[in-house]
Amino acid sequence: MPVRGSASRAEGNPTLRTVCASCGRPIPTEVGHAHPLDEDVRRETWGLVGYHAEQKTVFPTCAACHDAGWRPPGFVSMN
Ligand SMILES: [Zn+2]
Repeated sequence: MPVRGSASRAEGNPTLRTVCASCGRPIPTEVGHAHPLDEDVRRETWGLVGYHAEQKTVFPTCAACHDAGWRPPGFVSMN
């Protein structure tokens, strides 16, 4: 059973936590860190780019909301 690196690193480090922009569920923020132990984390966190108050903004989104089709206002497709 592999140890989940992000889970232990995030402990006592609340700045690494954020909430889903759609449902408010606490989610990890380590989306951009390339670390083998973070594979699980990356799969449950999406940084969707949209617009808030006419500013381009990254909306942290949990996998459940992403899979359900939730997208931020003014969603910008990465394609
Ligand atoms: Zn969510």
